Amino acid sequence: MKISFLGAARTVTGSCYVLEACGHRFAVDCGMHQGNSAIEERNRDTDRYAPTALDAIFLTHAHIDHSGLMPRLVANGFSGPIYCTEATRALASIMLLDSAHIQEMEAQSKQKKYQRRGLKNPPKPLYTQDDATKTAQFFHTAAYHERFEPFPGIVATFYDAGHILGSAQLFLEITEEGKRTTLLFSGDIGRPSSLIVRDPEQAPPADYVFLESTYGDRDHKNESLSVEELSEAIAYSYAQREKVLIPAFAVERTQEILCTLHILAKKGSLPSDMPIFVDSPLAIRASAIFSEHRELLDAETRAILTDGPDIFALPNLFYTLSAEESQAINTRSGPALVIAGSGMCTAGRIRHHLRHSLWKKGASIVFVGYQAVGTVGRKLIEKAQKITLFGEDVAVAARIFTINGFSGHAGQSQLLDWLEPYARAGSRIVLVHGEPKAQDALKARIHERFQVTASIPDYLEEVSLEGSAVTSVVQHETAAYPRVNWTFLAEEVERKWAMFRAQLADIENRPWVDQKEVEEKLATMEFYLTRLIARL
Ligand SMILES: [Zn+2]
Ligand SMILES: [Zn+2]
Repeated sequence: MKISFLGAARTVTGSCYVLEACGHRFAVDCGMHQGNSAIEERNRDTDRYAPTALDAIFLTHAHIDHSGLMPRLVANGFSGPIYCTEATRALASIMLLDSAHIQEMEAQSKQKKYQRRGLKNPPKPLYTQDDATKTAQFFHTAAYHERFEPFPGIVATFYDAGHILGSAQLFLEITEEGKRTTLLFSGDIGRPSSLIVRDPEQAPPADYVFLESTYGDRDHKNESLSVEELSEAIAYSYAQREKVLIPAFAVERTQEILCTLHILAKKGSLPSDMPIFVDSPLAIRASAIFSEHRELLDAETRAILTDGPDIFALPNLFYTLSAEESQAINTRSGPALVIAGSGMCTAGRIRHHLRHSLWKKGASIVFVGYQAVGTVGRKLIEKAQKITLFGEDVAVAARIFTINGFSGHAGQSQLLDWLEPYARAGSRIVLVHGEPKAQDALKARIHERFQVTASIPDYLEEVSLEGSAVTSVVQHETAAYPRVNWTFLAEEVERKWAMFRAQLADIENRPWVDQKEVEEKLATMEFYLTRLIARL
């Protein structure tokens, strides 16, 4: 049996393992690579996935970093079953459509840029809404704990991962030439104390455990304080008659905030004249799916929510689907609470709300999730004085709150607790889905606590297994990390600088206005170079 790591190896996004066993080739997850342009280039490397030679995909959950490349594979010839839970099917169907819409919009805007510059061959969208719709037809659902045999010799079972609605761990029992090997893919593991979903389950003992390590280097601080912190932000902005903005991911996080608002309403700390807007079409659709799958929710949470068709209904809760309704939120005065995407303020309606409220003393911005390096969200939590939105600098006068208790991922101690029975029983542990720093820290803690050495595969690594023994490990370093040609670029910069210097005498004889124009352009270059050096 062979396993290849096509994503989420020494990084968080692009989850995908390709397995070859029992004469079949199949994937566990097929997520989008997200990050800088070099990482995102991996999304276009479709041949590496060989979609026509792929017999099936097992999908652990609906998040785009696990599901987001499937429509691209479908567009390039994949036509096998995609196995997942029923709630994952429902959520992935709307999330892939949304992702396709974003791809199309981005491609359109790039196309315009290319046209304006007179360039040819603008990049095509990764996939289209048609591809996403087609992908949804390949879903085959299985309930948690239901053992099914997609191919002779391969038995699969989903266990609750407690991460988002429908999220699963995948337990595979593979029998080849009389030898049985068991593999457990954790998917993303949730926090045991999360509000909405149930606690992560323990699947049966396994020869191999592939464990996510997003928060491998830290615990979530002050988890229990989330409700109070949100209450504080609301009280602050309500008293100042300003808005509370919550940038939030559409799925799970938005619903978790709605649950928290129910708790606050029960406690009497939600002002009855403060309207709440869920201002995200995707979040609105996702919330409806949560209502349809209320049986999957944590029993305690279900007791807090309503019994009606919309479990999140509150007297002052409004869902704003259309762009006009969204804009109207900005023209109304008085306190309000607005939940909108994107979660890291990189796109979406939240950016319009930030433009309207960020500069107002008395407003609050409440961050409830991970903010990646370089995003507007990260800049705000790092106390930026100004933020550029729609090409305009906006001063930051609003109060910034960061609430840690809403993370969808288990923290370090929780991962170790979950892992304990497997580590004690002698499973081989493989760490995936984490930044190098988090993975190295988790590996060290695993060794300290269980005296077990976990392995950390690299991107494109191929591992051959026979029963519980690893027979070979092949790395493809040059393909995974193509060498950066510094010599060429550095020489080009120096050559062009010399060309500029050679022309300087001539420039000095030009009219003053022309000289000022060249000076301004050079100053811009100098500014970018200074900024680049400062960031090194
Ligand atoms: Zn996830
Ligand atoms: Zn993930």
